[in-house]
Amino acid sequence: MKQRIGIMGGTFDPIHFGHLVTAQEVFERFALDSVIFMVAGKHPLKGDEVTDAHLRLQMVEIAIRDNPHFEVNDFEVQRDEVTYTIDTMRYLHQNYPPQTEFFFITGADALFDIIEWKDARELAGLTILVGATRPGYDIEKAKLRHECAGEHFDIRYLEVPALAVSSTDIRQRVRDGRDVRYLVTDGVAEFIKQHHLYQSIQGCCRYEREQKTPFEE
Ligand code: ATP
Ligand code: MG
Repeated sequence: MKQRIGIMGGTFDPIHFGHLVTAQEVFERFALDSVIFMVAGKHPLKGDEVTDAHLRLQMVEIAIRDNPHFEVNDFEVQRDEVTYTIDTMRYLHQNYPPQTEFFFITGADALFDIIEWKDARELAGLTILVGATRPGYDIEKAKLRHECAGEHFDIRYLEVPALAVSSTDIRQRVRDGRDVRYLVTDGVAEFIKQHHLYQSIQGCCRYEREQKTPFEE
C-alpha cells in the first residue's frame, strides 16, 4: 500500500497549538497515514540563538505523545550544518518505500523560501507542498505569485482554523510572566516551567533582544 506522509517542519521553540492543529488538519484533508514533526537544527538566520535542540525535541515529543499518527524526527537536529528542505526530502526518500507520497507542510508565506531554493526542480519531484494559511491570508494572491515562481511544483493550499499563535508570542508571554495555557499543551507548559525556558532575555534570539532593548546595546 502506498503511504502518504506529511512533514511538518519547524523550529518549534516551542511547539504550540497552531502547529498541532495545522498538522491534524492536513492529516485529515489529505487522508495521510502519519505526520512527521521535523525539528530544525541550525537556523541560517537565527544561528545558535534558539533553544537547545534536545529541549525542543522533547517538547515536541510531549506535545504529540497522545496522537498515534504523529511522530517526531531528529534528522535535522543530528546534522552539524544547516539543513535545507532538499536534504530532508532526500533523506526521507531513502528511508521510506519508493511509492511513498510526501506532503511537505509549510506556512503559505514561507513557500517562496522553498520554491526558490537550490535544487528546486529536484525537490518538486520529491514532494507535494502544502501551503497552510494563517488567518487573514489571501490564498488567491498567494496562488498567483507561487504559480510564477514555482512552475514545477504541485502546491496544495489549506486554510487552518484561525489560530494567530506564534512561538515568538509565547516566548514573550513567558518573559512577561504571563500564562501560556491554551496556547501550548499542558505538558509543554509544564516543561517550559521546569526548565526555566524563555525567562531571561539572555537566552532569546538576538532579533527579539534588539526589539526589546533598542537603546541599550
Ligand atoms: P516563530 O514565532 O519563532 O517564528 P512559529 O510560531 O512561526 O515560530 P515555527 O516553528 O517557525 O513556528 O513554524 C513551523 C511551521 O509552522 C511553519 O511552516 C509555520 O508557517 C507554521 N506555523 C507557525 N505558526 C502557525 C499557526 N499559528 N498556524 C498555522 N501554521 C503555523
Ligand atoms: Mg516562524
